[in-house]
Amino acid sequence: MSKSGPSGGSPTDQLDAMFQGATLGPKLVEISSRSITPLPRTFPNPSHDAYPPPNPATNPLFTTLPLLRDLLETKTSMDQDNVANPCVKIHSDPLNSLHHLNREAHIEFLESGLGIDEDGEQLSPGFVVLDASRPWILYWCLIGLFCLGADLAPYRERLIETLRPIQNYYTGGFGGGNGQTSHVAVTYAAVLALCTVGGREAFQLIDRIKMWKWLSSLKQVDGGFCVCDGGEEDVRGVYCALTLISLLGLPTELAPDDVTRLKRQSEETQQGKRTGGWGHDPKLVPGNLLDGTAEYLRRCQTFEGGMAVGPGGMEAHGGYAFCALAALSLMGEPEVMLNKYLDLPKLIRWLSARQYAPEGGFSGRTNKLVDGCYSTWVGGCWALVEGALNGPQKDEPDDDDETEEGRDEKTKQTEEEKAGKGRGIVGSLWSRDGLVKYILGCCQAPYGGLRDKPGKCVTPE
Ligand SMILES: [Zn+2]
Repeated sequence: MSKSGPSGGSPTDQLDAMFQGATLGPKLVEISSRSITPLPRTFPNPSHDAYPPPNPATNPLFTTLPLLRDLLETKTSMDQDNVANPCVKIHSDPLNSLHHLNREAHIEFLESGLGIDEDGEQLSPGFVVLDASRPWILYWCLIGLFCLGADLAPYRERLIETLRPIQNYYTGGFGGGNGQTSHVAVTYAAVLALCTVGGREAFQLIDRIKMWKWLSSLKQVDGGFCVCDGGEEDVRGVYCALTLISLLGLPTELAPDDVTRLKRQSEETQQGKRTGGWGHDPKLVPGNLLDGTAEYLRRCQTFEGGMAVGPGGMEAHGGYAFCALAALSLMGEPEVMLNKYLDLPKLIRWLSARQYAPEGGFSGRTNKLVDGCYSTWVGGCWALVEGALNGPQKDEPDDDDETEEGRDEKTKQTEEEKAGKGRGIVGSLWSRDGLVKYILGCCQAPYGGLRDKPGKCVTPE
C-alpha cells in the first residue's frame, strides 16, 4: 500500500481529483476483468476402488495418544481426552470413508446457508440469532462456493439487493443487518462478498469517497482503528480497515476533519488530559491513515510470542494473530514488516505450539482444544510467516516451456543454494499432513459442512 493523492488546491478540489472518473479502485478493476470458469457441478466422488487406499504407514504421531500425559485428572484433561480419543480412532481407521473432500455435499450445505433449497428458499429458524452477522454468512457461503469451484453468477443480483438496504447512507459502511450501525468487520465481509461475485453492478454499490471518510473517522491517535463509531479499538479494526483501504485503492491521506481531530487529541495526550493507549508515543500525530499503525501492532505481541486483540498484555489468540500479521503484510512485504516489527522466533514458537497431535488441527490459544476454524486463522499465519522467512520467491518455470537460459539459471541457483549462498528456503514448520487429516477426517460432516471438532455441529465459518 503506498501513499497516494494529489497535493495543492482546496480539500474539496483534492478530493475531486483523487476520485475523478474513478468508480472502481485499481484492484477492483483487476478483479472485475478476471473471468472465472466454474468447475463442473458434479465432481466424481472417488470410491474406495478408484481412490488410493489410506497409507498403512500412517504417522504414529496421529494414531497414538501422546507419550507425555498429565496424570492429574481435571476437567481440562478430560476435555482433551474427549477430543484426542475420537481423532485417534478416525486417523487409525483404514476404512474411514471421509478421507476425500465431499465437494458436492459442501456445495449443497453452503447453498442452504444462502437460503436456497427445494422448499422455497427459506432459511431455518436457527438463523434468527445471526441477524447481526448477515454479511458474514453471505461472505462465508460465497467464498466457500468459490473455493469449491461453483458458479457464483446466479448469486450476484440477490447479493446486491440483500446488501443495498444494510449499507448506511452517511458512512458508506455496512451494518450487520437492516438499520444497524456501520461496523468495519461486516463492511469487510460485505465488500469481500461483492468482490467474490464480481461484476460492475456489484462494485458500483461501494461508495469509495464515503468509505474513505468513514475509515478516517475511525483512525485513533495511537495508530489503531476503532471497529465502529464509539466502538472498541483493536487488531480487527486495523486489519479490516487496511483490507478496505488496499482493496478499494483508497488514498492513505486522512480526511481533512480527522487531521484536525487527531491533532487535538495528540495535544490532549501530551498535556496528560487523555490517554493515547498502552505504550503509545504521546508525540505521535497521525498525518495519514497508516501513521503509527505498525507500531500499534508491534505492541500487540504478548510475552508468549503470539498476538493479542490489542496492546497492554492481553492473551495471545490465533484469530487476532492473523489480523495483526495480515495487516502488517498489507503495509509492506512480510519479509520486511514481520522481521522489523515482531519478535519472529518468539512468534514461531507460539505458532508451533498451536498444532496438536494426535488431532492434527490447530488450537487458538494456550491450553485450549483444537478447533477447525483455526485452520484458517493459524494456517494463514503460517503462510505469512513462511513468506517472511523465505522472502519473495521466483515462480518456477514450467518444465515444458523452459528455455536453455532458464535451465542454466536454475542449475546455478541450486548450486549456490548447496554452497550456502543466496537465499535458503525454510521448509514447512508445521504438519500439513496432520491438518489435512484433521479437516478431512475429523471435521467433515457426511451431509456437508465442516465442524469445529468431532461431535460438534457444522457451521459455514
Ligand atoms: Zn471456532
